[in-house]
Amino acid sequence: MKKSTLILAILITGIIMAQEKELAWNLYYSYENFKEQSLTNRRFKHSDIVPLIEQLKNNKIFKVDKVGNSVEGREIYLISIGNGKKKVFLWSQMHGDEPTATASLFDMFNFFSGENEFDDFKKFLLSNLTIYFIPMVNPDGAEQFQRRNIFEIDLNRDVLRQQTPEAKILKEVFDSLKADFGFNLHDQGRNYSAGNSINPASISFLAPAPDYEKSLTQPRENAMKLIGDIVNILNEFIPGHIAKYSDDYEPRAFGDNFTKWGTSVVLLESGGWRGDREKQFLRKMNYVALLSALNGIASGSFANQDLSVYESIPKNEEFMMDVILRNLKEIRNGMEFTVDIGINFEEINTNGAKDFYLKSSIEDIGDLSVFSGYEDIDLAGFTIEPGKTKPEPFNSYNELKAINPVQLFNEGFVNVILNDDNFNADYSLLPFNIILNGSNIKQYKIKTEEPANFIIRKSDEVKFVVVNSFLIDIADIGSWSGNSMVYRNK
Ligand SMILES: [Zn+2]
Repeated sequence: MKKSTLILAILITGIIMAQEKELAWNLYYSYENFKEQSLTNRRFKHSDIVPLIEQLKNNKIFKVDKVGNSVEGREIYLISIGNGKKKVFLWSQMHGDEPTATASLFDMFNFFSGENEFDDFKKFLLSNLTIYFIPMVNPDGAEQFQRRNIFEIDLNRDVLRQQTPEAKILKEVFDSLKADFGFNLHDQGRNYSAGNSINPASISFLAPAPDYEKSLTQPRENAMKLIGDIVNILNEFIPGHIAKYSDDYEPRAFGDNFTKWGTSVVLLESGGWRGDREKQFLRKMNYVALLSALNGIASGSFANQDLSVYESIPKNEEFMMDVILRNLKEIRNGMEFTVDIGINFEEINTNGAKDFYLKSSIEDIGDLSVFSGYEDIDLAGFTIEPGKTKPEPFNSYNELKAINPVQLFNEGFVNVILNDDNFNADYSLLPFNIILNGSNIKQYKIKTEEPANFIIRKSDEVKFVVVNSFLIDIADIGSWSGNSMVYRNK
């Protein structure tokens, strides 16, 4: 290539990238106009999306096909749009408790419905691409908000045997389409960090390997280039929060096999974002990323992307915890020492898996300087001790409601005993824990795998308490918002 031609090529690539970024910002700023307002958190069900799919049938730009049923008889739909030569297939939520991208797909359907300021862009996409969607591959899992299908089988380990109707449907649709590009849309654990940074891996990507040797086939290389393109866009919004999923070959997984069978597969995993447990910001990032990716495929601009962008994405590491309390003084065996305390939550489904509460567990104690917390609180100068259980029992929930929590905390207690056989809740919104029917009084320790219940003092005065890992400022107890636990003493 002549020098002048090379400069021109770089210049054109630069202009295209600038245009792609401008488009992404426009998508970002106008997002609220297209956001599907009926989906507000992660625990929506099949019955919430069916009416939205029914509505699409009234719009002639969408083709809606029923492609099968889940084990429990829930319909699985293939929705398609456009009449371009290149085929793109997006499927979401093959793991029932990974719904972030499903919500984004409905935001995208709204984007494609009706007339708006993006009409030229949409026309460009739909004349160059035919786009296929399966939102919610695992509706029975979504119903229970669980990863696996109702047979307890992980669909993403069932592409070879196809013992589940859901995996069979996904494979049959894949075979019928032979798409050029595939988007395998998941959620990943909140404990992943972007490399060894203090940032959660909010969006992670992978161009899955087609074999144990991790061969760089043409479909895989195209997926890598496209991911590089998307990463350049997302760096505008979430720099330092993008990571790469483990590229170990999994012969039973869809993405790996679809790559082997010739489709350029992009795995997109929505992870964690501070202050966004319901992942509504990450849903918006999915929307921007996916529409930008469609643009890159339609224009072919992804092909100019250098592989170095993909190669330089930091790996998913596991340096995130839900809560870290730092630099606390602890006194034991007459010795004084400084500790950080790392705590993780488990989400426990309630109300037919439509809601949840959080159950804390101490993950680690000591020097946690290499870890980062979604809540990360420096408590240097404070002393920590286990929150105790008040020995005198109460006889009704009404009695508990009458407790003055500050008085309770000043006596060193964060747990109370309730002797009421009719009380069957698993958690409470009172700012202290309830131990049911405690004939022998359970006292918790500052110990890994124990719940996180502490009293925190400064020169003997109680300043904070930690109840089920939620920090309560004694001076501002009204601002408590969390859930305490109901422990069953066996
Ligand atoms: Zn998954």
